Amino acid sequence: MDKQIKAKRFYAHCDLIEGTTDVYYCSFCNMLVKEKHFREEHLNKNHNHKFKATLHEWERKKARGTTRVRPDNAPNRLKE
Ligand SMILES: [Zn+2]
Repeated sequence: MDKQIKAKRFYAHCDLIEGTTDVYYCSFCNMLVKEKHFREEHLNKNHNHKFKATLHEWERKKARGTTRVRPDNAPNRLKE
């Protein structure tokens, strides 16, 4: 039974969007994008660095208090 409280997800860079199999959050653009976006728009960017930066930002938001949640096992294209 799913008794999860509906809370807004926090998406880190390259996190897979819940309920989809091929849509990701791009933190460079603040947009929901498909996989090819990362190759076509950000070929020379360091995505792992950006991912860590958004996670760090998330930790700071959590420390201050936020209603948003990000599960520890959040699917992310960088870990695959
Ligand atoms: Zn982008």
